[in-house]
Order: sequence, then C-alpha cells, then structure tokens
Amino acid sequence: MPDQKPVVILGVFVADTAYRAARAPRMGETILGSDFKLGPGGKGSNQAVAAGRLGADVTFVTRLGRDPFADMARATWKDAGVKAAVIETPESYTGAAYIFIEETTGNNAIIVCPGAASMISPEDIDANAALIRSAGVFVTQLEQPVAAAQHALEIARQAGVTTILNPAPAATLPDRMFALSDYVTPNETEAGELTGMAVETVDDARRAADRLLAMGVGTVIVTLGEKGALLHAKGASEHVPAVSAGPVVETTGAGDAFNGGLAAALSRGFAPPEAVRFACAVAGISVTRPGTAPSMPSLAEVEALLR
Ligand code: ATP
Repeated sequence: MPDQKPVVILGVFVADTAYRAARAPRMGETILGSDFKLGPGGKGSNQAVAAGRLGADVTFVTRLGRDPFADMARATWKDAGVKAAVIETPESYTGAAYIFIEETTGNNAIIVCPGAASMISPEDIDANAALIRSAGVFVTQLEQPVAAAQHALEIARQAGVTTILNPAPAATLPDRMFALSDYVTPNETEAGELTGMAVETVDDARRAADRLLAMGVGTVIVTLGEKGALLHAKGASEHVPAVSAGPVVETTGAGDAFNGGLAAALSRGFAPPEAVRFACAVAGISVTRPGTAPSMPSLAEVEALLR
C-alpha cells in the first residue's frame, strides 16, 4: 500500500474452542455436544489480522507459550501478512477460550484464559519501545494487563504516534489512559460502562462520547452494531451508517474488524470520517461470513464495496 505508516498492535491471541450443545452442563455433569470448532481469536490478534489482510504494515506485540496453540497463532499471522514481536513464555501456555454456544438460541457463555499474555508487563513494552516509536498508528485493547497498555500508550504518545484505545473488555481505567488516547473506540456496552450512562441510541452514544471527551480523549468512536458508528470530537459529530455487504451470518469479531480497519485507514492518512466509513465497510463484510479472523476481508473487497 503506498504512503502508509507502520501499525503496531499490542494484545492477546487466544485459541477459540467453540462447543455447541442443547444446554450448558451442570456442575459435576457431562453432556454430549453436537459440534466443535477450533479457530484463532483474541481481540488484539483479530485486529492485527484485519489490518494485515487490508495490506497494512502491521506488527503484533504479545506473549505466547510454547505449544500447539502458539504454532496456530504464528500460522494465522503469517497467512494475514502480520509480523510478530513475540516474547516466548515457556513457563506458561498460549491463551485459550472456552466458548459454549446454546443450540436453540445461539447465545454464548465464554471463559477466556489469556495464559502467557496475562504476563505482558511494562518491561515487555520497554523491550519493544523502538518498535512502538517507529509506528504511525498504535492500537491496544484491554485483554492484557492495563499497566502494560498504559505504558505503551505513554511511549507512543511521547513519539507522536496516533494512539487507538479499544476499551474491550470494559474495565475501570486510570484517567491518564483517556488523555493518552487520540481515539477511543467502545461499543455501546463499553461506552455505558466507562461513563456510567445507559447507551442504546445514537443520542445516548453522543452524550456518553461527550463525557469521554471531558475525560481527555481526543476523538471518540462508539460502534453501534447494525446502526454503524458515531464519530465524535470537540465541535464535530457524525453518525456514520453501517455498510451492508449482504445477509448477516455472524457478528462475532465485528468490533475487531472495525478496529483493524480503522488502524489500516488511519495508517494510510485517511481523515477520520473517511477512516470510519472504511472501518464500517471492513466490519460490514466480516459479518457476512462465519468465524472471526477468517472473516476479515481483503483491501480489494473493501474498495469494491465502497466504490
Ligand atoms: P463484537 O463484540 O461482536 O466483536 P462489538 O460489539 O465490539 O462486536 P459492534 O458495535 O457490534 O461491535 O460492531 C462493530 C461494527 O461492525 C459496527 O460499527 C458496524 O460497522 C459493523 N456491524 C456490526 N453489526 C453489523 C450488521 N448487522 N450489519 C452491518 N454492519 C455491522
């Protein structure tokens, strides 16, 4: 991609192990399920795959164990053109998620064990400081320890790197994290939890975004599922509608597609409204396909949709 700056993403890889069954087992009980799928997951890794598929020059910073799931992580990144800055952690294990899907409703219940990635520390960030400083865009979520995410945001900010904080899963954050973030990208639930406000409509999102601006964020982007996204900065607010690419098959990972797409667009110098439209198109295509990382589109597919 011409004129693009490097993207560095800090985060977690987990192997998603998805079990379908009529109902969840009770404690002490064993039941038979009807289907099983193993696939690459973890918010940060999914976002890196999304940006990589879009042709971004992306490096993913994380910790992995030394086990078959680590091999799966590396193969996933290689396939998407993502470079890896991995701190090997043989004393732990590569992250894994148990996903129970209830057959009749499609509802799920999840246990995530981040394993090695839960050991990502500020010292790990120092070891990757030169990489972070060399980026045009830096992205983090909150699946790894907050102290590491905050330290990375500090280093990126000091070097003038554009910073994106995807505050997922929702967590209580030090105020400083908001002031260090050029962009904060909560979904409706996360926007609600960060501000203590109920966020269900575009107007609710605007009020919550105002609160986040007052907390020090540069620009707030609230993702609104099938309603698209709200781009909100001081003196400028725009509701960008979702981009439909066909019948919706699975929305898991839509937020990751959006954040990876946003990072790729900003790394190419897109202005914020253009970048949000691009991110909506990336996510809009991803929801028409099953899986998370495997559902991320190529640049050609996104450009064809936006043409
Ligand atoms: P998830 O947790 O499932 O990964 P999320 O809750 O973080 O998703 P959402 O706000 O649901 O994120 O969706 C992110 C983006 O994906 C939206 O801003 C929108 O652009 C796109 N999107 C989500 N659902 C749909 C849909 N049904 N049709 C088209 N686009 C969608």
